[in-house]
Amino acid sequence: MNELLGKKVLVTGGSRGIGAATAVALAEGGADVAITYNSSADAAASVVKEIEALGRRGFAYAVDSGDAVAVGDGVRRAAEALGGLDILVNNAGVGAIAPIGELSLEDVDRVIAVNVRGAYAAAQAAVPELSDGGRMIHLGSCVTGRVPGPGMTLYAMSKSAMTGLSQSLARELGSRGITSNVVHPGPIDTDMNPADGPFAAAQITNLSLPRFGTTAEVAAAITYLAGPNATYITGTALTIDGGHTA
Ligand code: NDP
Repeated sequence: MNELLGKKVLVTGGSRGIGAATAVALAEGGADVAITYNSSADAAASVVKEIEALGRRGFAYAVDSGDAVAVGDGVRRAAEALGGLDILVNNAGVGAIAPIGELSLEDVDRVIAVNVRGAYAAAQAAVPELSDGGRMIHLGSCVTGRVPGPGMTLYAMSKSAMTGLSQSLARELGSRGITSNVVHPGPIDTDMNPADGPFAAAQITNLSLPRFGTTAEVAAAITYLAGPNATYITGTALTIDGGHTA
């Protein structure tokens, strides 16, 4: 507890799912936390309330990650409200699971805009704001290590970009003591990928541990990478996938 006391954090896409769990877990560790969201204002306000109930400061901003200019502004607004920035969790993302022939170029543009361009814009805006010794943690996916079946082209392509972004940032920011890592969740029970959804049973057959993961299990891994025991870990990946890639 309180290993993150005084740390200032921005979690993109923090209103629901993995981002919301991460925002609360980091606040439990003592951090003040800002989140962005796209349209779930009520859910974002609830996360802020949870953060404040822990005695920390919480902020929420409506920022469409598909709008790179708005993303940059959102990072700067968050840093101003927090009084600096120590940790960026690049989490906002959308799914897109369909055979390649059924995905339009508009689908491609939107998924790349949110999952890739938005993540890039958040990282770019965070670089001058981050304190020396700060952290960046980017959300990839287990499907970048092993594609479980058809329908993953666009989503897996977009999530694979997080590895290149993360490793390159590790090289660029290492001289400031800033680490950059990617986490690769497996099937995690969220609105994006519900454990009782139509694709759930097929996903479980690919796992070593035959169940969906929880948002808390991913949040714990992110909290570890954000914390004082992960100072020499950079440019690498932490996979929390129930053995999907085993
Ligand atoms: P959810 O759909 O449950 O939540 C997504 C969150 O991101 C919400 O807070 C949502 O905000 C926000 N978001 C979505 N689009 C935008 C946008 N355009 N601008 C700003 N915020 C946005 O997703 P998960 O929690 O499941 O996923 C979180 C991350 O983890 C994603 O990057 C995803 O690709 C990755 N991941 C998820 C896995 C899973 O099985 N769940 C597995 C592997 C990776 P709002 O509430 O306003 O819509």
